[in-house]
Amino acid sequence: MQAELARIVGAGNVLDGEGLSDASRLPGYADALVLPETPEQVAAVVAWAYEHDVPVVPRGGATGMAGGAAPMGGVAVSLARLNAVRELAPLQWRMCVEAGVTTATVQRLARENGLYYPPDPGAAEDSQIGGNVATNAGGPHCFKYGVTRAFVTGVEAVLAPGELVTAGGPARKDVAGYDLAGLLCGSEGTLGIVTAVWLRLVPAPAARRVVYQFSEDLDDAIQRFMACGFVPSALEYVDRRAFAAAAGSFPGQAGEGSLVIAEADGPGEAFEEGTPIDAAELWRWRDGISHAVAAVHGAKLAEDVAVPVERLGEAVTEVAAIGARHGIESCSWGHAGDGNLHANFLFDPGDTPARARADAAAEDVFAMALRLGGTLSGEHGLGRLKPLRGAPAAHAALKRALDPKGLLNPGVKEPASRGG
Ligand SMILES: Cc1cc2nc3c(=O)[nH]c(=O)nc-3n(C[C@H](O)[C@H](O)[C@H](O)COP(=O)(O)OP(=O)(O)OC[C@H]3O[C@@H](n4cnc5c(N)ncnc54)[C@H](O)[C@@H]3O)c2cc1C
Repeated sequence: MQAELARIVGAGNVLDGEGLSDASRLPGYADALVLPETPEQVAAVVAWAYEHDVPVVPRGGATGMAGGAAPMGGVAVSLARLNAVRELAPLQWRMCVEAGVTTATVQRLARENGLYYPPDPGAAEDSQIGGNVATNAGGPHCFKYGVTRAFVTGVEAVLAPGELVTAGGPARKDVAGYDLAGLLCGSEGTLGIVTAVWLRLVPAPAARRVVYQFSEDLDDAIQRFMACGFVPSALEYVDRRAFAAAAGSFPGQAGEGSLVIAEADGPGEAFEEGTPIDAAELWRWRDGISHAVAAVHGAKLAEDVAVPVERLGEAVTEVAAIGARHGIESCSWGHAGDGNLHANFLFDPGDTPARARADAAAEDVFAMALRLGGTLSGEHGLGRLKPLRGAPAAHAALKRALDPKGLLNPGVKEPASRGG
């Protein structure tokens, strides 16, 4: 297999596929890892795989939390070498970049040109724009601006059985066909491989004002910020146990209850309540919470569910109760305005029974999210860890239409009965 793939991408671009995981740490391996340098090479790899009935798993920065980039054999396709900036058009608030360009590079290019790319998933230095599209990634500032999909006007992708197509493009509007670009957003590599993306940008906000407050009544605090008369650019929460793990480096004054962070970024917009704090320092601290929590016992199981915003307080309380019931330390934080919780269960990496208790607790979190009218994933995707629910026939028909042999990232976004 490796020799045949080397004829397509060059011998130096075929590597051994052992030990390919992602941020979920789910073990993964491929028979070969290829690093194409052009979209045409990606298309030729997919054509070869389709001809030989070999599974194909796209890999971006491998920061995904759901095991979607952790293959179970077949060919893993890294997009890392497709990293050209094809167009940067500041006056049109637009750029076109190849899939392997990192999220941080997109954000930096926008910033250097007086513009702003709001989606800000927390591992931006490593995650790639192709991976962001494939997971329809969010982040704190998506509360006001919308998730990745809202910024994608076009996608270039390789579809089965190896065809390079474009859906949408630089035009900001396009209804001359089905919304294929939208369909690829959040498809987790199961419908095609994204090779380039047209992004719309917005003018950089004139100012950012961040405030924080601690509250024993999370829902009430969120409602107050949502009633302020404008859309906060970010509205986040950190529960008291997650805060305790990262309290040492908090740039403000600690208090009782959950921490609520709100940002206003329009001219003249500011909150009447809350304590002002330096925005850059606060967001740097916020980015470190995941690592601080993981360091408490050495490992954690992180789950990403979303509920209607008015059920957030209930969900946060219930995560704590679920942890207590299973005898495992728990905490949560997340994108409060979107009702999006990251529920975490903490354990010693060598403690196998504790890991099993964390898995059982996660199942209870999923059941709770569905009972409260929410969803199994707000932004990390289903990957290989969670089953697909809802409209199974429509999902299966779409999958059959675009991937008739079922070779694109098998095991991902599948109903429980087929192995999710
Ligand atoms: C510390 C930390 C914080 C995070 N915070 C957030 C957050 O706030 N919000 C959020 O949404 N996510 C967050 N994430 C999750 C992760 O960063 C996002 O899901 C990100 O979009 C994944 O991008 P990636 O390039 O790493 O993709 P990968 O992990 O490599 O892949 C993810 C999925 O996309 C598919 N894929 C990758 N590239 C392509 C492509 N070019 N074409 C087709 N399919 C492809 C893969 O097959 C896989 O199914 C966080 C992760 C970490 C580790």
